[in-house]
Amino acid sequence: MKIEDNKGARLSRQRETILEELRKVTSHPTADEVYDMVRKILPRISLGTVYRNLDFLSNKGVVLRLGGAGTQKRFDGNPAAHPHLRCSSCGRVEDLEGPCALPELPVEQSMGYVRLRCDVEFVGVCPTCAGMNF
Ligand SMILES: [Zn+2]
Ligand SMILES: [Zn+2]
Repeated sequence: MKIEDNKGARLSRQRETILEELRKVTSHPTADEVYDMVRKILPRISLGTVYRNLDFLSNKGVVLRLGGAGTQKRFDGNPAAHPHLRCSSCGRVEDLEGPCALPELPVEQSMGYVRLRCDVEFVGVCPTCAGMNF
């Protein structure tokens, strides 16, 4: 993405604010939720700008984009590989508490792929959706 035009400074300020806000939370917000957070600081930012910057940041590996086909994309300010819990009912995503061993892929099995990472996601029904009052 080329940003060396007269909008460059504004774009990087928007991108920095998006990144700062995303790093403050562990709620794994959707693009719409990031938009609501960033709008409090940059009231004139557009949803499209937020989408584009989140794509840019996740393509660069600065943030994680979570969620496969059929689920709403969520974003994580922590780009390090870490396991997640996702509720199949309400869609919330949380970081797993405590350590969890991630599988490792031997180089000879990587089939020439580079920049590999392992996305581990446990899917279940959260306590709220299950009707339990924790
Ligand atoms: Zn739920
Ligand atoms: Zn996370």
